[in-house]
Amino acid sequence: MTLLDGKKTAADIRAELAFRAAQIREKLGREAGLAVVLIGDDPASEVYVRNKERACAEVGIASHTYRLPAETSQEEAEALVCSLAKDGRVDGILVQLPLPGHLDEKALLRRIPAQKDVDGFSAENMGLLAKNEGGVAACTPRGVMELLHRYQIPISGKRAVVVGRSNIVGRPMALLLLNADATVTVCHSKTKDLKSICAQADILVAALGKPRFITADMVKEGAAVIDVGISRVDGKLVGDVDFEEVEKKASFITPVPGGVGPMTIAMLLLSVVEAAEKKL
Ligand code: NAP
Repeated sequence: MTLLDGKKTAADIRAELAFRAAQIREKLGREAGLAVVLIGDDPASEVYVRNKERACAEVGIASHTYRLPAETSQEEAEALVCSLAKDGRVDGILVQLPLPGHLDEKALLRRIPAQKDVDGFSAENMGLLAKNEGGVAACTPRGVMELLHRYQIPISGKRAVVVGRSNIVGRPMALLLLNADATVTVCHSKTKDLKSICAQADILVAALGKPRFITADMVKEGAAVIDVGISRVDGKLVGDVDFEEVEKKASFITPVPGGVGPMTIAMLLLSVVEAAEKKL
């Protein structure tokens, strides 16, 4: 069994990105820039934003964080995003979710132009992904693909099962695997006989947000098992996979923490660098 070390892989990627970011600085005369919009005072969001700022600084990307009060109006929030859309220092815009309840998330995200949509959530980027015509893919599924590639896990012709169909993980994950020529099945809460479908997977991606839900009897001998889930149980972070039992059957498995999580932020940095490189 090989442990897919997301922490180390993400560190390798950040080192590669630092080199690319230095070239951008030299050729554009400015750093690649990420604008982060944080509205309200959700403590978890504050931690995520600080982590993103730190990661940007480490590779030489300028982060511009806009902290707005919880009572910010829809018009004010949209006006900020529209001004960032025109701002020449900004290559990527990220609106930290969740937003305060009175704000219309979809309407706000629609203000981010596809070229600056480094989260890959826009209809245009999702459409390009669905048509296999490029575009920016969401960071978490992209991170999973990067792990599979870097550990040379074959995808073409393999049977992949994705458990979860959210717009930020499951759905783009299935499309990326399909675009890489896997035979893909997407499962969700209405799926019948989940166990037997999962047990056929050469690549099993668990992204349902239910701690230790994927048990050893749902896993094919020798499968690559990717655990996207993050839940807190008794103060400890746990994934969607029953790691201790499943690792005995899998050929490859991601730990939680230290698997997909660090890859997500590395892919955000990669999307910002790629957006800036288009201007070289
Ligand atoms: P989500 O929006 O809640 O979606 C969960 C998906 O799982 C839904 O499609 C749901 O089906 C499906 N599901 C729920 N219970 C199920 C069951 N019993 N059997 C089969 N399918 C079931 O969650 P998400 O945003 O995709 O996130 C999923 C997990 O990944 C969470 O633990 C989240 O914290 C984690 N996450 C991690 C990262 C990272 O960087 N590592 C990034 C993002 C998310 P329906 O569509 O039918 O409701």
